[in-house]
Amino acid sequence: MISLNFSLSPCLFAILSLMLTTLCHSDSGKPNILVIVADDLGYGDLGFTGSKDVRTPTIDGLAAQGVVIENGYVTHSYCGPSRAGLLVGRHQARFGMENNVAYSPFDPHAGIPESEQTFAKRLKKLGYRTGIIGKWHLGAAPNHHPNQRGFDYFFGFLSGGHSYFPESESVTRSLFTASGEPDYMVNEGGYLPLVRNEKGAAHTHYLTEQLSRDAAEFVLSSEQPFLLYLSYNAPHAPLEAPADVIASYAHISDQNRRIYAAMIDVMDQGIATVVDALKASGKYENTLIFFLSDNGGVYPEEWMPEADWADNSPYRRGKVSLLEGGIHVPFVVHWPDQLPAGMRFRGLVSALDISATAVAVAGGEVHPEEMDGVNIIPFLRGERSGSPHTALFWRMEEADHLWAVRTLRYKYMNQTLPGVGKSFFDMQNDPFEAHNLINQYPDRQAELAELWNNWNSKNINNILLQAYPYQQRRRAFYDELYEERQRASRERKAYRVE
Ligand code: CA
Repeated sequence: MISLNFSLSPCLFAILSLMLTTLCHSDSGKPNILVIVADDLGYGDLGFTGSKDVRTPTIDGLAAQGVVIENGYVTHSYCGPSRAGLLVGRHQARFGMENNVAYSPFDPHAGIPESEQTFAKRLKKLGYRTGIIGKWHLGAAPNHHPNQRGFDYFFGFLSGGHSYFPESESVTRSLFTASGEPDYMVNEGGYLPLVRNEKGAAHTHYLTEQLSRDAAEFVLSSEQPFLLYLSYNAPHAPLEAPADVIASYAHISDQNRRIYAAMIDVMDQGIATVVDALKASGKYENTLIFFLSDNGGVYPEEWMPEADWADNSPYRRGKVSLLEGGIHVPFVVHWPDQLPAGMRFRGLVSALDISATAVAVAGGEVHPEEMDGVNIIPFLRGERSGSPHTALFWRMEEADHLWAVRTLRYKYMNQTLPGVGKSFFDMQNDPFEAHNLINQYPDRQAELAELWNNWNSKNINNILLQAYPYQQRRRAFYDELYEERQRASRERKAYRVE
């Protein structure tokens, strides 16, 4: 029989209270920061953004209990550059990173340049335990390993994509398909074993579930404050999901979309696991959570006509496009201790703001010459009015010069996709870009062009190749490639928008 004595002395009671307080909230009071990034998620594929056929109660709950950013954007319409900008908090064109980084373990130049600091590195200096769980995609050579870029803890994969089931793991698959073409997934390291810090790690569950479990463990085992970048590859291809979850989407007739919906569903369940861990450890109230996608969902462009499973509605096109479907993403900010519930914010917000906000709430200083983002918390708390940005900018150095600039009112862009081209939209009266007003407002167009040119004057030309499939083992090969690319970058003329 246990007998409890509640007649504690005031002094002992005070000590116990202090111990409990210390356990639940560290002395510093600094918030934990959890950045959850989905991969190629369609704008309209969540309950709170209008989906009728995908179940996302957890993400919808975060949206309902937090702030929905209505004009939330990423800096690029596909994975690598978007994530580079997000992690560094500077637009990736500032440091010449406008392509995906290939999985190149012997290429020390393929990755975020070492001149740049990730938000993890900045927060580590401010006393945070820092972790990344999931997809890295920002360099596979040892100098670019997450543990070298500010993260105390890494569990996941260095590549840009990964298969989902343990049984497909392989270190011996051929780099070429049966027809002799380079096999993209193999070259990208998409079947390699998972990694925990520097070592291989067991892969025992469906990947999204495994990442979520590890994230919950990270939350439970971390003293406050921590930063966790939970970088899902879901629902990026390959389309693979547990059979029972797919079966629960029998109401979706298209098979690809049924699997894709199941992938999102498992991600939502995984986020629930992490939220439960935050609540169980008393960290939920003082954890700042961001949720967003790294770019829009896939769209059946002519080079990939079968990629039709995502729904970016109400926006046009999708991944790879500078129309809204490629860059306007679901974006939630949730922090019970500091932010109102059920709020919708209409100012322009960029994924670049995540780094600046994280540094600011962690007690650091945000220097505009080091970071392009701003701390958005004062805007969301109503302490500052207006939009965090006057304008947002995009630049994609693909086959042609692709660019876009958006103010609260207008958007001016050029993209050489079929049926797009140079376009001017009134985003206030035509937020879904149905009516191209090109050359109808020349003065407004010139103003936006000037904004873009000013912004671009601080960028450098791209220095990365889509290096795939350069699976060479010679360091000299990559050194020569890099020097050639640097020279080409310097010699290319800067371009202006008219
Ligand atoms: Ca992506």
